[in-house]
Amino acid sequence: TVHTQQFDYPLFKGKVSVNTGLFIDGKYVDPLDRHDIEVFDPTTGKVITTIAAGGKKDVDRAVVAAQKAFKTTWGKTVSGTQRGHLIRKLAEVFEKHQDELAALETLDSGKQYFHVKAMDFANAIETLKYYAGWADKISGKTIEAEPHKFVYTLHEPIGVVGCIVPWNFPIMILAWKLGPALATGNCVIVKPSEVTPLATLKFAELIQEAGFPPGVVNIVTGYGSVAGQALAQHPDVGKISFTGSTLTGRKILHSSGDSNLKRVTLELGGKTPNIIFDDADIEQAVKWTAMGIFHHAGQMCTAGSRIFVQEGVYDKVMAAFVEIAKAAKPGSGFDPNTKIDPVVSKTQFDRVMGYINAGKESGATVAVGGGQLGNEGYFVQPTLFTDVSADMKIVKEEIFGPVGVIIKFKTEEEALAAANDTTYGLSACIYTKDVERATRFASALEAGSIFVNITSGPDWRVSFGGFKQSGFGKDLGEYALEGYTNTKAVTLNI
Ligand code: NAD
Repeated sequence: TVHTQQFDYPLFKGKVSVNTGLFIDGKYVDPLDRHDIEVFDPTTGKVITTIAAGGKKDVDRAVVAAQKAFKTTWGKTVSGTQRGHLIRKLAEVFEKHQDELAALETLDSGKQYFHVKAMDFANAIETLKYYAGWADKISGKTIEAEPHKFVYTLHEPIGVVGCIVPWNFPIMILAWKLGPALATGNCVIVKPSEVTPLATLKFAELIQEAGFPPGVVNIVTGYGSVAGQALAQHPDVGKISFTGSTLTGRKILHSSGDSNLKRVTLELGGKTPNIIFDDADIEQAVKWTAMGIFHHAGQMCTAGSRIFVQEGVYDKVMAAFVEIAKAAKPGSGFDPNTKIDPVVSKTQFDRVMGYINAGKESGATVAVGGGQLGNEGYFVQPTLFTDVSADMKIVKEEIFGPVGVIIKFKTEEEALAAANDTTYGLSACIYTKDVERATRFASALEAGSIFVNITSGPDWRVSFGGFKQSGFGKDLGEYALEGYTNTKAVTLNI
C-alpha cells in the first residue's frame, strides 16, 4: 500500500510517496493480518493515512530474515571495512533524499521542517558517518596473564537487535541505534512509534538504495503492546535498544526477564534541572533555558522542565521568559512564521492539559500560558508555573509538554539539593561564569549529561544516557559500541 502526499508549502513543494507496509528481508510486504493504524497531522488533528499494524507473526518473519542475514551475508562475508562503506553510503543517500524525509517527519510529528533538517537530520547524518568510521576499528585487547599464558578479547556482534523508537525524534534516534548496531555487525529490526512512522518507512528505501543485503535492516510498524512486546519477548532477539518512557522501559525489562534474558539498553524519561546563578550571562541563560523547555513543545527526554533561578536575577529572568512564551505562534511546520510545535497527538494533548490542571489545582501560580494555543490541532501555550513545592506532580513527573516550573533559590547548597531531588537523572544544565562552581556542580549533579552555559544537546561523539530511573546503557560515542557486542576472552596456554 503506497501513500502519496502532495506538499505545497513555502518550505517544501512536491510529491512524496511512502509505502505503508512492513519492510522485511529487503522489501516492503503486507502484514499477515492487515489491521490499520491511523496516522494524524497534529497541527490539524486530521488523519493523514493508515499504516500496517504488524503482529507477532510479522515480528517472527522479521527475526527469521535478520537471523538469515546474520548467519550468511552480513555476519559471515561482510568485513568491518565493507560495513563502514555501506553505513557511509546510507548517510550519503539520506543526505540526498533528506527533503522528502523531512517533509514526512514534519507531517506526522508537527515539527517545524526547518528544525527537522537543521537539527535532527544534521545530527542523524553525522551520527551515521561517525559510526561508519568505527566499523573497521572494533578491536579487542591482548592481555599477558602469565609467562606462556595470554588472553585475547574479541567484541562479537550480538546477532539480532531490536530497536524500539519513540515518537519525539523518530529519525534521529533511529540513527543513534542503527549506527552502532550495524557498525558492530548486528542485524536489526526497527519498531518505530505508531504515532510518527512515516519518515522511518521512507527510510527503508534508503536501506535498499545504499545496497545493504536483504534482512540486515527490517522495519515492523505496529502498536507497542503488540509488535513492540513481541520483539521484546522474542527468544531469538539478543538485545533490545529502547528509547521511550520509564513505564515502557520497565515492561521491556520484564519481557527480557520472562524470555531469554536479552541485553537491554534503556534511554528513558527525565526531569532536567536548569540552574541559573546570579553571575550568569542572563541573556544567554534565558535563551538556552527557554529553548530547553519550549523546543519541540517540550517533548524531549532532556526537556528542562525544572528551572532554578537565583534570587538576584529572578525578576529579570521571569520577565524575559514571559516575553518568549508569549511570542509562540501555532501553525503548520512548513510555514516559516510558525513559532512553536504542537504536541504530537490528542492523547498527549489531554495528558499535558491534565498536568496543567493538576498544577493549578495544587495551588501553583500560572506565570504565563496555562491553556490551549489557537483552536486547531494540538498546540499548548508555553506554560510556566511559580509558587510550586517539591511534592507537586508538576515538579516530580515528566510532563512532556511546553510546561516548566520556576523555583527561586538563595544558596548553592539549596539549588543542588533541589536539583537532585528527583527519581530521574538524564541531564542537567548550569548557567554561571564561575568555573569552579561549574565543575563542583558537574561532580555533584546526579545525571548522565551535564551542560554548562548551554542547553542539553546530544552529540554523536559523546555518551548519552541516564542515571537513576532515566535508564542504563549508553547511546552515542564510543560508549554505545559496547552495548551491541558480546566480549569474548580467549585464553591460550602455550
Ligand atoms: P513510549 O514508551 O510510549 O513508546 C516508545 C516506543 O515503545 C514506541 O515505539 C512504542 O510503540 C513502544 N512500546 C510501547 N509499549 C511497549 C511494550 N509493552 N513493549 C515494547 N515496546 C513498547 O514512549 P513515547 O511516548 O513514544 O516517547 C516519549 C518518552 O520517550 C518520554 O518518556 C521521553 O522522555 C522518552 N525519551 C527518552 C530519550 C532518551 O534518550 N533518554 C529520548 C527521547 C525520548
